[in-house]
Amino acid sequence: MKTFDIIKKRINRVSKLMNLSDREVDVILSYKRIKHAKLNIGEKSYEAMRILHNDAIGPGKGGIRYHPDVCEDEVKSLAFWMSLKNSLAGLPYGGAKGGIKVNPKKLNKKELEKLSRAFIREFHNVLGQDIDIPAPDVYTNSEIMGWMLDEYEKIKGKHEPGMITGKPLSLQGCKLRATATASGAFIVLKEFLTKIGKNPSELCVSIQGFGNAGKNIATMLYKDGFKIIAVADSKGGVIDKDGLDITEVIKTKDEKGSVTEYGDKKITNKELLEMETDLLILAALENQITEKNADKIKAKYILEIANGPVTEEADEILYKRNISVIPDILANAGGVVVSYFEWAQNRTGNMFEDDYLEKRLKDIMTSSFQKVYDMHKKKKIDMRTAAYIIAIKRILDAEKARGRL
Ligand code: NAD
Repeated sequence: MKTFDIIKKRINRVSKLMNLSDREVDVILSYKRIKHAKLNIGEKSYEAMRILHNDAIGPGKGGIRYHPDVCEDEVKSLAFWMSLKNSLAGLPYGGAKGGIKVNPKKLNKKELEKLSRAFIREFHNVLGQDIDIPAPDVYTNSEIMGWMLDEYEKIKGKHEPGMITGKPLSLQGCKLRATATASGAFIVLKEFLTKIGKNPSELCVSIQGFGNAGKNIATMLYKDGFKIIAVADSKGGVIDKDGLDITEVIKTKDEKGSVTEYGDKKITNKELLEMETDLLILAALENQITEKNADKIKAKYILEIANGPVTEEADEILYKRNISVIPDILANAGGVVVSYFEWAQNRTGNMFEDDYLEKRLKDIMTSSFQKVYDMHKKKKIDMRTAAYIIAIKRILDAEKARGRL
């Protein structure tokens, strides 16, 4: 099943709970702009796209992914989730996403730079601080954002740092951005554990995905006393029931390219998902827990840092099995919240202290969690459904206020 079909299924279910009209459902599921281009680098040609889902609340906001599996279905789904995520966090943004179908690991730095600049040459007309603002996502980083800003400013003949976020610090980036997604997820997780009366020392944790998000949340949890018993990246995973030394695992990953080079107890990604653990953190890609493996999951709690790692069918199975899922649009919003701080600083010329921004991030994440948790308890619905209801309502309110509905 395509990812966007899973979204449609979910929206059809949520719309009934919200008593939405057919027109409202249509507005939520339609797209403002879908733009494709071919990027030609030397003899090779790469498919690229930028998709704006909804801009009723404000300009589009969402990352750019470089991955061999990038396709319109995936980017549309990611743009959709960005709209909901931004809405739930109360940010002044709509949702968008971009991508290039490429395996960046096969490109050298010069080729990667050429490709990133080519992306901007094709898409600069649909980007801008008041139009649509990209950021990093899977296999893109601050260095790529720096090249993209430079290319954009060359074309436009002016400075406009707010056209992209997740930039290097030397180009008006924000120090908190590199760890922001993990920080936001950590804040939400701690709030959740307080609600259910659990301490870090009581919990075994497994993490799928060991990139920006996975590695940083692992560091935060490890420092806080959680026992991390397994981690995996695209090459596979490692396990130690007594707890992994996360500092050493990160060192190995950084030096040798994969967590599988650490220790001698290996597991596959499939085994990691289905292993005995308390908390399973999903920080890789979408559609990892589906109707095929949902009944094999042994974790009691799932924290979604990746976008869309659990399908609609799997949600139903997990809910019936009393497994709590802290949903992506709530748990992984820290990155875009700090991107918002970066954008606001770029636009106003104000520079805020890290302490102040850390407090603002905590306030926004805590308040979003509280709203979702309260509705989940009050209406006896899962946290994802609660988060969707709050997010969709804000988008539709903006559509109505514009007279478009
Ligand atoms: P990243 O490129 O830094 O890391 C991705 C990680 O996933 C790598 O460790 C890679 O080896 C691993 N991976 C890839 N395919 C895998 C597979 N099939 N099985 C297991 N592991 C696999 O990306 P990231 O920024 O950490 O993003 C991870 C997820 O979090 C994505 O879904 C992304 O959309 C989401 N997310 C990231 C941010 C952010 O700010 N970085 C914000 C919100 C959501």
